[in-house]
This record gives sequence, C-alpha cells and structure tokens, in this order.
Amino acid sequence: MLLPRLREEVLEANLELVRRGLVLYTFGNASGISRDQKLVVIKPSGVPYDKMKPEHLVITNLEGRIAEGNLRPSSDLPTHLVLYKAFPEIGGVVHTHSEYATAWAQAQRDIPVYGTTHADHHTVSIPCAPPMEDEMIKGDYEHQTGFQVLNYFRDHELNYEEVEMILVGSHAPFTWGKTPEKAVYNSAVLESIAKMAYLTEQINSNAPTLKDALIKKHYERKHGPDSYYGQ
Ligand SMILES: [Zn+2]
Repeated sequence: MLLPRLREEVLEANLELVRRGLVLYTFGNASGISRDQKLVVIKPSGVPYDKMKPEHLVITNLEGRIAEGNLRPSSDLPTHLVLYKAFPEIGGVVHTHSEYATAWAQAQRDIPVYGTTHADHHTVSIPCAPPMEDEMIKGDYEHQTGFQVLNYFRDHELNYEEVEMILVGSHAPFTWGKTPEKAVYNSAVLESIAKMAYLTEQINSNAPTLKDALIKKHYERKHGPDSYYGQ
C-alpha cells in the first residue's frame, strides 16, 4: 500500500472531525499530501466514519488521477488540489459544514476579532469570500471553489501561512495547515471562535473589537520572535 503513515494520519484527522462535533453523517473531509511523492490522500466519498479503514482512503496525483484505491474520492477533492498547488507549504486541508462557522459563511460576514482566542491565532478578521458567480458554479464547481479562495487571498493580500482558514460565502469553511492534524485543529479553533463571536453579538450587538494592544500581545506571545506560550 502506498503512503501507509499518511493514510493513518488522514484517517485520524477525519475521525477527529467527528469526535470534535465538526461533521454530521459523512459531511466534511480531510486530506493530506506527500510533497516528495506529489500524492494526495483523501477521504473516500460517502463512507461512514465508523467503518472507515486506512485502505478505504483514496490516493490521487495533483491532477486528481487515482494512484491507489477502489473507492471514489471525496467530491471536494478538486478544491483540495487547487489549494495544495497554490499553497506550497501546506500539508493538510479540511472542509466541514460545522454549524457556527457555516452560519457566518451563510450570513456572508467576516468574523471580527472579538476575543483573545481569535487573537492567539490571527491578528485580522477571519475572511469570508463572496458567494461564487453563477458561471463558476455551473462549471467545474469544486475546482472553482478553490479559485474562489485563491482569488480572495490574492485580492486582499492575505498570507496563507498566517491565515489558515476562510469562509466561502453561502457555503462553509475551509482550513489548512502544515499537517492534516493542524488543519483539523484550525477547523476546531475556527468553530469555537465563530461560536463565541456569535454569542458576543447576541449579548451586545455593539460589542467592540479587541484592542490593538491585546491583539498584539496575544498573537506575539504565541507567534512572535519572543514567543513564550507553550513549551
Ligand atoms: Zn461543502
């Protein structure tokens, strides 16, 4: 079997999405990439998570041609491939319809920096790309979804290594990271931030965003040159 370790990692990432309550039934998908071999490991389409074994995962090349596997890959594979090709440092991609993050996508709103959990991870709002144009939807939809993400990052000069997540308007979130595990972590963090931001606006619809000093403090203690958070 090709890439046994990466198969295990990607299976574990998919199961973690279930354990964290980020997916319902077979919705959602996680993948990982071997940059050496230029092969992607992704969840098969429509297989229940509790029945999923490493051998069920599908391995494709960067053009989506199956290198190993008898099952069909997740229908969102083309989106993952676009992101892997454009973002050379990422090792994993996750797509879910987790409820709070998806609600922000459906409301077509960026998630403002209301709290320090957000600032621990990002200094800017979590971006929401606009809904896709009809022509993109009618065409190769999943492939074009990847370009909707790329276009937004390019137009807004966002750095994919600093902002590892996006909401696609009228759809749902995509996250990525250095590993499949980190991409799942980002999905869970995004869901938590989305929920807290929603609750914040319910309690106070004029809630202020976080002060710059707090954004800077929280981000830099984790990510700055003098970071001191963690071991
Ligand atoms: Zn979706």
